[in-house]
Amino acid sequence: MVASPRYIALPSPLENELHQKGRRMTPQRKKVLSLFQELGSGIHLSAEEIHYKLTQTNTKISLATIYRTLRLLVTMGFLNELELSEGGHRFELLSDEKPDHHHLICVRCGRTEEFESAQVLQTGKSAAEKMGFKLIESTLNVRALCPSCY
Ligand SMILES: [Zn+2]
Ligand SMILES: [Zn+2]
Repeated sequence: MVASPRYIALPSPLENELHQKGRRMTPQRKKVLSLFQELGSGIHLSAEEIHYKLTQTNTKISLATIYRTLRLLVTMGFLNELELSEGGHRFELLSDEKPDHHHLICVRCGRTEEFESAQVLQTGKSAAEKMGFKLIESTLNVRALCPSCY
């Protein structure tokens, strides 16, 4: 009897991980996600802010777990991650209402404001077309200093 090539049937570690993630929405993942859903779109939170808000509601969750959970929710397509200045990250709910919005980000205090721009979308679209790329999204993150920080 020939040994069956088991390795063929095994999914790659990444696929396996995604499958598990997709299948299992643990209570902690749910808590983090529902916090974003309660706050609605247009809210950009750091891991520390999320941790603070959850502990306010008597949820026992470590900051390390929040970091892991956030990464996961980004991979699962629930959240969008914004990179601020060095090491700063904000997370927001991905919503169909505002698929292509842009951000004005204060690099000092992290204040984040959203704006819309038809020009950015058009520029992204025509650049993609020119190079024969298939467009997925055009978003612009503007790093700046807010009025309280300069
Ligand atoms: Zn946003
Ligand atoms: Zn600021």
